[in-house]
Amino acid sequence: MIAHAKIGDYVANECPRCRKTVRSRYELRSVRLARTRLVVADLMVDVCPVCDHMISIAPEAMAQLREAGVSK
Ligand SMILES: [Zn+2]
Repeated sequence: MIAHAKIGDYVANECPRCRKTVRSRYELRSVRLARTRLVVADLMVDVCPVCDHMISIAPEAMAQLREAGVSK
């Protein structure tokens, strides 16, 4: 687990689409949340470099999600 991820950091992650371990990279993306269809801009997520799939939302982005009213 990464305590403080930064934009541009690479992490080893298993991509659910490629079904293999990839070096994903943290980027800022506008993410549309499936449940609410709300779009949160500049959310920090890690992205598969092979298929461009968003693997996960960074823990650092959770505050942004709360601000957007999408608390979990
Ligand atoms: Zn992938």
